[in-house]
Amino acid sequence: LTAPGSPFEMMEFELDGIRRRGWKSGPGSIAELVQGSLAHGDRTYIAYQGDSLTYREHYQRVAALAAVLIEQFEVCKGERVAIAMRNLPEWSIAFWAITAIGAVAVPLNGWWTSQELCYGLVDSGSVVLIADGERQQRAANRLQELPGLRGILVTQPVTAPEGLCNSLDAVFDDIADDISLPTVDIQPDDPATIFYTSGSTGKPKGALGTHRNFCSALPTATYVGAWKALRAGIDLTQMAEAMAAMQARPRASLLTVPLFHVTGCIGTLLLNLAHAGKIVMMHKWDPQESLRLIEKEHITSFLGVPTMVWHLLDSPEREHYDLSSLESLSFGGAPAPAELRRRLGDTFPNLADVSTGYGLTECSSTVTFNGGADYVQRPDSVGMAPPVIDLKVIDDTGKVLEPGELGEICIKGPNVVRGYWNNPQATATSFVDGWFHTGDIGRIDDEGFVYLVDRKKDMIIRGGENIYCAEVEAMLVTVPGIRAASVFGVPHPTLGEEVGAVLQVDSGQAPDDDTLRAMMKDNLAAYKIPTVFWRQADALPLGATGKVDKRVIRASVLAAG
Ligand code: AMP
Repeated sequence: LTAPGSPFEMMEFELDGIRRRGWKSGPGSIAELVQGSLAHGDRTYIAYQGDSLTYREHYQRVAALAAVLIEQFEVCKGERVAIAMRNLPEWSIAFWAITAIGAVAVPLNGWWTSQELCYGLVDSGSVVLIADGERQQRAANRLQELPGLRGILVTQPVTAPEGLCNSLDAVFDDIADDISLPTVDIQPDDPATIFYTSGSTGKPKGALGTHRNFCSALPTATYVGAWKALRAGIDLTQMAEAMAAMQARPRASLLTVPLFHVTGCIGTLLLNLAHAGKIVMMHKWDPQESLRLIEKEHITSFLGVPTMVWHLLDSPEREHYDLSSLESLSFGGAPAPAELRRRLGDTFPNLADVSTGYGLTECSSTVTFNGGADYVQRPDSVGMAPPVIDLKVIDDTGKVLEPGELGEICIKGPNVVRGYWNNPQATATSFVDGWFHTGDIGRIDDEGFVYLVDRKKDMIIRGGENIYCAEVEAMLVTVPGIRAASVFGVPHPTLGEEVGAVLQVDSGQAPDDDTLRAMMKDNLAAYKIPTVFWRQADALPLGATGKVDKRVIRASVLAAG
């Protein structure tokens, strides 16, 4: 199989009894990729707060941690090891070490509360936790009770629980120069990652991805590069030279998004590792710091969520920085209005590459891309999928719809994960005959351009973070005095949406807004806690199915202002 108009070969493979399409080229496992990164030697892989790690130094640390995981903690192939950190070089070392020995990396959300972190550890059955000091302390008094946890590796300082905690920094002392990764037999469809997505039924669900799923992003990215060139009328033989020249040039990507999301882990950590790029890590997003880093580190590539791009565009400080090194600016993960593309064109007229994409955790990051002239002409589309990824739009009965008709978008390809960890019921609902049912409503035009219009799933995207309303509603109704709760997105100029809640309360009994927020703080990460509340004594209106009619509630409170 060859992708139409492209030199990249595809293949067919079978998994769980279903024939699927995949890339023939590209690495077979993450271990192969990490081993290959040693060839980039003295080039810088990660720059962070004035320090940096070359590819060689990074590889040596990965190998040292891999040895400790196997020898000290007896981690076997297929066992889960969790990471709970904000963006740090150690996050990268931990992720590559875990996956290169055939264990399964479980990145936990850094904003999660103690309760949510412990849920992630127990649900995944993690045997080791690798954490930064803040998250380790956040969960400290619960960690001792976790079943099956053999140990914790923590960035300094090491604190309780005693006996379980070990210093991560000590792993990197006195590493032998010729250290190498242990060899483990890893097959493309072996499990590699569990990334948590918000859960529609209240609890986050772990998307179980394989080495093939994760690595498929590399040929896809290369294909997209070639595809853009083809659409721009460039001869692909010249394209190969142009790409080689581009790789030889210093490239620097700003890490703006958290590594525990697929966009950070795959879009930045993986793509740079494979192409010898430099990553400039931000501990957390800060618009002014990003401007300073773009100038200081000569950042060539910026990948973020639309909220971040709005921050850049609206920043009064922008004029004070030299941003001329920027070559590419990409964003996705949440709706980006056509206005954003237009404002970017006006503000950065010389920027060669502005693109957007549609991606999901269950699809190992990006599914469709829109860039170049296509994006200027269709600023409201999230673009097209590469030929190895199949898309279809279905109605409520499962019937496949014609181009232009609105329905649920379904995705099939080497990027689609195997299912939800330990959750056969949710897997059976969302993964049908190899097709992932996204819960996104949209249409595909005659040429293959995708337009997202709505969401079937009851979810809010606040500044790129997904929040499932059911999880927040379940928490609210445990509060005395609150009889029922309906949670939904309220439009916000830069965040896209913020969290709003209509409460049915017993008069005088429910706590005031601030008390309510303080009560939720221990159980729900801050970004999930509603910023706007409306209260009423009347029952919430019900729809035809007997469930609370959220559309009616939302429309009436938003219309009232
Ligand atoms: P996550 O699994 O956290 O990456 O979130 C995936 C969801 O984010 C999708 O199902 C969409 O609802 C939403 N999403 C991702 N990319 C876009 C985009 N470009 N425009 C609108 N919504 C998006």
